[in-house]
Amino acid sequence: MPTIITHAVVPLIVGAALGRRCISARLLIAGAVLAALPDLDVVSFKLGIAYTDTWGHRGASHSILFALAISCLVSLFHKSLQTSPGRCIGFLFLAALSHPLLDACTDGGLGVALFWPFSDLRWFMPFTPIEVSPIGLTRFLSQRGWAVMQSELYWVWLPTLGLAAAILAGRGLWPAKRS
Ligand SMILES: [Zn+2]
Repeated sequence: MPTIITHAVVPLIVGAALGRRCISARLLIAGAVLAALPDLDVVSFKLGIAYTDTWGHRGASHSILFALAISCLVSLFHKSLQTSPGRCIGFLFLAALSHPLLDACTDGGLGVALFWPFSDLRWFMPFTPIEVSPIGLTRFLSQRGWAVMQSELYWVWLPTLGLAAAILAGRGLWPAKRS
């Protein structure tokens, strides 16, 4: 997996670039939470569930169906998130889906069960440039943590910032016009 911070940063940067009128602050935070949420499945290791199991790490929680279900569920509270139901589901679904799609670009571990429950196949993108992060903070800090962060900065943060710049340019806000 990319680190949980990197997962959360993607919707934060994109949502912030879209602006408060489009994505409320509360919706932005909900998007960041949902983008990080699938990796709660690492508790499966503690519960003795095999990595390869449907309910193991990168299993059902990393599927399109899970992203859709969790975004629909949270969208029941769209009023609290100060947004419309459609915008709420749309943003949260993309935020949640970004998680397995990024995991599928990593160079290690098992792939993601993106098409669960139709298929249990663990799936990778054809291009896997992101260095996989060791599971667990201690291992992350003691093993190749910096190399992983560099890889994520290059392959996730930079393209996301590029997308944000394109959105800002599309909104006529960047680069700032001088008069
Ligand atoms: Zn993950």
